[in-house]
Amino acid sequence: MKYICPVCGFKGLTEPAYDDRGNHSYEICLCCGFQFGFDDYEMTSEDGSYLEPSESIIAYRKKWLAAGAVIFSPECYPQHQQQR
Ligand SMILES: [Zn+2]
Repeated sequence: MKYICPVCGFKGLTEPAYDDRGNHSYEICLCCGFQFGFDDYEMTSEDGSYLEPSESIIAYRKKWLAAGAVIFSPECYPQHQQQR
């Protein structure tokens, strides 16, 4: 069973990013590098205040896409391996 990353949409998480009680997995997405339970508390808005986790996911995705959507861990990314 694989779970979809709510940040980038990569279907490769071994645990759900958030369970039904809102606990995070602390898993790092192999595609975008977002760590649930960490990066969602590290994002700040332009005025320096911390974003809600749901807003952080959107902010991180924008930042990741703006940086060229670099694959965080290409050697672990199955779709990348299939292209070889
Ligand atoms: Zn991701």
